[in-house]
Amino acid sequence: MIYADYNATTPCLPEVADLVRDCLCETYGNPSNRASLMGRRARAAIDTAREQVARAVGASTDEILFTSGATEACNTAIFGVMERLLPTRPRILTSTIEHPAVCMPAEACTPAGAEWIELAVDPQGRLDLDAFARQLNDKTAPKTALVCVMAANNETGVLQDIREVVRLSHAAGALVFCDMTQMLGKASFSVHAEGIDFACFSAHKCYGPKGVGALYKRRGLALSPLIRGGGQENGLRSGTENVPGIAGFGLAADLAAREVNARRAHLQRLTRLLESEVKRSLPGLIVQSEGADRLPGTSMFTLPGLRGKWLAQLSDVVASSGSACASLQEKPSHVLRAMGVDPDLAARSLRISLGVPTTEAEVRQIAKRLIEGANRLQS
Ligand code: PLP
Repeated sequence: MIYADYNATTPCLPEVADLVRDCLCETYGNPSNRASLMGRRARAAIDTAREQVARAVGASTDEILFTSGATEACNTAIFGVMERLLPTRPRILTSTIEHPAVCMPAEACTPAGAEWIELAVDPQGRLDLDAFARQLNDKTAPKTALVCVMAANNETGVLQDIREVVRLSHAAGALVFCDMTQMLGKASFSVHAEGIDFACFSAHKCYGPKGVGALYKRRGLALSPLIRGGGQENGLRSGTENVPGIAGFGLAADLAAREVNARRAHLQRLTRLLESEVKRSLPGLIVQSEGADRLPGTSMFTLPGLRGKWLAQLSDVVASSGSACASLQEKPSHVLRAMGVDPDLAARSLRISLGVPTTEAEVRQIAKRLIEGANRLQS
């Protein structure tokens, strides 16, 4: 079996798994118990992880809040901002290609009086910046509290011009939330340099454990907590900290940042190989967002004329038809639909996402399977 679904999740690195195990079995004190050595050791593990994650994303340690994953970080930022700003700034703008972890909380703010507007993308999946600026600066519309635009799309890999989104948003007095879940270890970035107000990250997308992530909150910004209780994480995320997960995330983020250039070069080489092999044998093949800047490692393929689902033809390759959530709901990708792809074609599209452990031999095998599957569906 060849794994080619690294955007959905990644295997835990052995050194990360060792650290998680140590925290589960050795450093198992409660980090809130500062009177005990065990508690202080657990606290030190969290402190180290916070430094590692902050360094990896270009933030300060006091700006990093650990959560159960990117989904919780999105919910915390969106509900936390809207609860405070709704009376004066009722609008929330999200791009049409955001992950459901962003669209669903945005929509859930509407019964309380929020106005949720989705921002169009062009056929390459890039945000239409002119239409966005018009929405932001519409003097007849209510004011915008929060703009949510993801840095890199999980289905196509398309990268957005986040600095421009920040510039336009801040000029209109709006805050910016950026979903950076797919970025760690694939692109060099710094949340401070981008000027973002909030960003989310997830450990299991960068060879860390599942069930842990982080929210970046720019220093000085206020947020209402989503989860209330014992006051952990500065009162912003109560509940005994997931020390093994947090420590594992810290190490995974540290390695991702240190190795980003080598990982990116590896993924670029393999993505080029995969796309050229498949295109050579399948005339008419569309690589979605090919004309835009993309993260390496992600290829969303669409082939007009297929009778049936391409993905179903791959018996020994683990791939997907879009995000894990879209697969759960068996719906055609909302990302491709937002880019203007016909729903039928979107439903038959296929995403291959490569990772650090992927080899050239595997890529050649994946290309062979894709071509054989397409030929079967075309004949
Ligand atoms: N945002 C993006 C872009 C993702 O790819 C994912 C993962 O599917 C998420 C958010 C949610 O991440 P998590 O599984 O950590 O909640």
